[in-house]
Parts: sequence; structure tokens; C-alpha cells
Amino acid sequence: LEPTDFSQDSKKVIDFIADYYKNIEKYPVLSQVKPGYLKPQFPDTAPYSPESLEDILKDIDASIIPGLTHWQSPNFFAYFQANASTAGFLGEMLCSGFNVVNFGWITSPAATELETLVMDWMAKMLELPPPFMSSGNGGGVLHSSTCEAIVCTLAAARDKVLTKNGHEAITKLVVYSSDQTHSSLQKGVKLVGIPPTNVRCLPTAFPEGFSLSPLTLEAAIRKDIKSGFIPLYLCGTVGTTACGAVDPVGKLGKVARKYNLWFHIDAAYAGSACICPEFRHYLDGVELADSFSMNPHKWFLTNMDCCCLWVQNPDSLIESLSTKPEYLRNGATDTLNVIDYKDWQIALSRRFIALKLWVVIRRHGLATLRFHIRSDVKLASYFESLVAKDSRFEVVLPRKFALVCFRLKAGKNKAHNENLNQRLNKKLLQGVNESGNAFMTHAVVGGVYFIRCAVGSTLTEERHVEGLWKLIQDKATKVLLNATY
Ligand code: PLP
Repeated sequence: LEPTDFSQDSKKVIDFIADYYKNIEKYPVLSQVKPGYLKPQFPDTAPYSPESLEDILKDIDASIIPGLTHWQSPNFFAYFQANASTAGFLGEMLCSGFNVVNFGWITSPAATELETLVMDWMAKMLELPPPFMSSGNGGGVLHSSTCEAIVCTLAAARDKVLTKNGHEAITKLVVYSSDQTHSSLQKGVKLVGIPPTNVRCLPTAFPEGFSLSPLTLEAAIRKDIKSGFIPLYLCGTVGTTACGAVDPVGKLGKVARKYNLWFHIDAAYAGSACICPEFRHYLDGVELADSFSMNPHKWFLTNMDCCCLWVQNPDSLIESLSTKPEYLRNGATDTLNVIDYKDWQIALSRRFIALKLWVVIRRHGLATLRFHIRSDVKLASYFESLVAKDSRFEVVLPRKFALVCFRLKAGKNKAHNENLNQRLNKKLLQGVNESGNAFMTHAVVGGVYFIRCAVGSTLTEERHVEGLWKLIQDKATKVLLNATY
């Protein structure tokens, strides 16, 4: 870390990355390498002597970049986007540059206090009720992923109930979700020792837009209570992964309160959209939730990784996750007047992620962040209109955010033949992705296979959406020509 070398080498790397962005459209979006491609390209053992940065960058160019799937390509329409921005990158650089380990207030007071501040800023942008803020009883914490946020809240809910009912009751605890809830919940349940068979993935259907019905939830809870189970935790979603469905937060919250469940809202993707007044209504009723999380690393111009988790009352989280070894004891902690964020998460060591999010918010401002969300939604709406104009295709579900779910129809007489639909759409998707010119993914909801076009990569413009649509149409023509009915 000699300052002159540090500065010169860092500039070389930044120029290298800038070139990468200049050329990003030239790379196949989905990496075309085969499994095991990398090993033969490098020695089996680590170098004994230092190597030059130039040699390393040359190897990255020759061997690493071909093995990248280009998430920042404007032609990336797969999964949900992982937004990057110059501000996000600069924030990440600062975070990495200081490289402080922010597990307690004492280990970097600025890191702790900025995290509290930035989480309050975010909470205000999302119009979360005051109990989620540091001025209320609660507050926010930055995690790396939603999965982590869910594990922590599950552990807090579990321990609260087991303290009352005894540890043996763990086999009786039940977790509720819909069949559209992200798989992080299943993983979290396993990690906190609740039997995976105690997760009720309640059915959703097309007429309700694949959102969880409070009646279905209440019926399931009553049945479980009758059978001697203990209802523990409900995960509602605002913007499901497969199709962008939204659970009715307020109505579910009332059921959760009635039966004393911990209510978590996962808004990993769509939470960012709720900074716009026209989307905020999806969070109505959030005051009934115990915890709420969303990922700025998806749609908030914040480079990986960054997940915001708010709780109305951190006590159970802290009770579940805190440890007090002598070697970490310090006067500040002993005053009980400071936050030690290690007690709000799994790991001890933690990055100064708040700095990145703070830089993103300051460099863009709320107005630009809203503009960013709205432009993506507009592009998605444009794509949807293109699909709707071609009678060979159909939009499968009404769009709420910037995810368009569509498919190629099998033909007039065969429109209901799901097997055939699936075969054609798989071929179409394969054709698009293998071309290297765009990347999308699929989902199956309500037994229907469809293609997901998730608009939202930072560099995507109208011309990319038009290019994608032309590519889809060309591939569809070929698929339909070669189809065997
Ligand atoms: N929840 C939802 C609704 C998601 O869409 C995703 C990822 O796409 C996740 C959770 C997982 O987020 P993470 O990778 O931060 O754990």
C-alpha cells in the first residue's frame, strides 16, 4: 500500500474497467465457455514471486472475461438486474480503500453512525413508519443479502417463541409463505433448525395475480394450531422473483398480528420502486410488519453487495445474535448507548457498506433515483407493447414493475397444449441466449412456462429493447418453422 504505487496501479485498473465498459456490448452476454475451461489456462500452484499488474490484467482479458456473464451489459435481461453505477463503484472503492472492520461502534464510530443515518434516509425515502427508524424503537442494518436478513429474522422469531415454550418446541414451529416466495426462506428455515416440512408454501393462483390470500393464510394457521403446531413466521413478498407478484401487505399483516406471528416483508427487487409515490401503495400496511428488507444492489444503482433490513424492535434480533466475549469488551459498548452492528447480523466482521449507499444517494439524489426506476418501467412497458402487437406472442401476466412475463403461443388450435408451449419457448429462449446478443431467463408459474424479460440494467436504452425484440422475433420465426407438432 505504498501511496505512489497504490495510485498508479489503481488508475491502471480503473482504465481497464473503463475499457471493459466501452466494449461491453461486444461480448456475448451469456458466457459461452464450457465447464472446466479455466484450469488449463493457469499454473497448478500459486506464484512464488510477485507478478506484474500488466501480466495479471492481460490474463484477466484473455481468460477471465470470456468466462464472465456480463451482468452490466445493456442486453442483460435475466434474473433481476444487479445495478452498477459510477457512484456505486466509487462508494465501493472508498469502502474497500478504508477497509475498516465495522463490527462495533468502537471499531469505527463513523461507520456505525453513518449506517444508522443512511438507513434512516432510506426509510424516509420509502416512507416506512417511524418505528422502523432510529428515532423510534427500531432501526435498520445493512446485510449482504436478503437470504442473510431472512436467516437473522427467523432466528430472532424462533428464539422469542422458544424462550416461552422451551427448546423442544422447535419441531412445532411453523413458517408461512406463498408458493411464489423466494427460496431464501426455505434455506433460512433449514439454517435455523426448523424442520423444512414445517414451511407452508401456500398456493396462489392467476385470478389473484399469484399473491397470497389472507383467507388461505388464516385457514392454514387455524389448521396448524388445531394440530398442535405453533405458528411462528410469515414471509410476504413485494415483487416475487418469478413474476413480480405482490402480496397484500396490510391484510396479511392483520392476520399475522391476530396470531402473533413475526411478519417479514421481502421486497428484494421491487422495494427500490417504492421510492416513487406511484409504487408506494404496495407497502401500505408495512406498519404491521416486524421486519422489512430490500436490495439496493438490485435496482438502486448500488454495486454488489447491499441489502437493507429494518426491524421495528431490534431487541429480539440482538438477543438472538449477540455474543459478548471478553476480548471485544469496551467502554462504549458498556454504556449501552451505542449500536454494535455485529449483534444485528451473522458474522462478526463487516464491511463499511453504508459508505457506498450514502455515496449513491448523495451523488444521485432522490429525483435521479426515481427517474432511474421510472425509465426502466417505461422501457418494460415499451417491450410489453411490442409483444402485444405480435399475435404469435402473449403477455402471460399483468406487469407491475419492470419485469415482463411473456411467451410464444403454440398456435391457434394448440394454445392450451402446455407441453408444446414449453418446448417452443425453451427453444426460443435457448436460441436467444446462445446468440450471445441478449440473456433472459424463464419461470413456471401456475403450471405455465414463460420467458422473463427483466428490464433494468443500468446501461439499457430503448435501442437495446428494440434489438432484443427483433432478436426474439427472428428466433421465434425459426422455432415455429422447425416446430414438430
Ligand atoms: N427475494 C426475492 C424476492 C428475490 O427476487 C431475490 C433474488 O432475486 C432474493 C430474495 C434473494 O436475494 P439475495 O441474493 O440478496 O439473498
